[in-house]
Amino acid sequence: MITGSDVYSQKFLVTEMYKFGLIGYPLGHTFSPKIFEQIFKEAGVNGVYRIFEIPTRRLFYQTCIELLTNGFHGLNVTIPYKIDAYYLAEEKEIEAVKCQNANFLYLKDGVPVAANTDYEGLRETIKNELKLHSGSAAIIGYGGAARTSAAVLDDLGINTIYFVVRDLKKAKYALQDHSGNLKAEVNIVENPASVASQLDILINASPAGMFPDVEKLPHGHELLNNVLPDGMVVDLIYNPPETKLLQLARKNSLKTKNGLYMLIVQAVKSFEKVADIKIEPATILRAIGEANEES
Ligand code: NAP
Repeated sequence: MITGSDVYSQKFLVTEMYKFGLIGYPLGHTFSPKIFEQIFKEAGVNGVYRIFEIPTRRLFYQTCIELLTNGFHGLNVTIPYKIDAYYLAEEKEIEAVKCQNANFLYLKDGVPVAANTDYEGLRETIKNELKLHSGSAAIIGYGGAARTSAAVLDDLGINTIYFVVRDLKKAKYALQDHSGNLKAEVNIVENPASVASQLDILINASPAGMFPDVEKLPHGHELLNNVLPDGMVVDLIYNPPETKLLQLARKNSLKTKNGLYMLIVQAVKSFEKVADIKIEPATILRAIGEANEES
């Protein structure tokens, strides 16, 4: 069954109603409706953003097709369906191919297109802070966000990437198509001790530490100690704003970033693909901050 709550923004005289949605499971933690509400305001359009908490893969496919063919302009896709979204679409944008997963589906000339706007979100989050010394990076996890992280790091000049995983066999199988897209040398390891001792960046691309499990640290968290003094630690989680992993990184005097700006940039870029209206992500970040202070 499809359930959900709606966020409406109908303050403007433009007649078209932009319809967007988010599909994933579970979705209790999502900030996306708040972000889209600000995007609709900033763009001066009427918009609706619906949440679809979909428990099975079969229902995921069915729901995407139904919504896209019944007036939805675009669908954000999140955990655990980003890889399914990539395979569902007939056309795939270049970032989606490089990342082998998609976080946005939309119709172009009646054909479903898979896009990866997380790529730009993460790139914008880290590109000015990432300093290349060892050229090595570690990514915790091997799902959609981990693949996107690897593609971004590869394009920013990292030449050795370690995927740190809990189940080597499953991860090697899952990543077999992905690693071939990267210029960097790729190592998939279970044991954190097999990772290079000097890292320019560590990224947590697993949900470990996300609300409500805020005390949790991901497998491989001890790699914090391998990050160079000028290096950075990124947690793609945005709720809580500072995960346990980021707290430890801050105590080690490392640069830290959470996933909020990435989330905002991916939402803005998704909206721009269908609305052809430019939005400044920093404006949305400010508005979200102010809305949080007021509530
Ligand atoms: P996913 O496809 O389900 O992948 C999750 C990965 O994390 C899997 O490889 C899983 O491997 C691993 N994992 C789970 N628990 C772990 C633990 N305790 N220690 C180490 N690895 C663990 O999910 P996803 O779409 O990639 O998303 C991952 C996280 O990134 C989520 O928290 C999501 O909210 C966040 N994210 C944020 C943004 C943003 O815009 N800020 C964008 C994308 C994703 P196993 O097989 O071992 O379980």
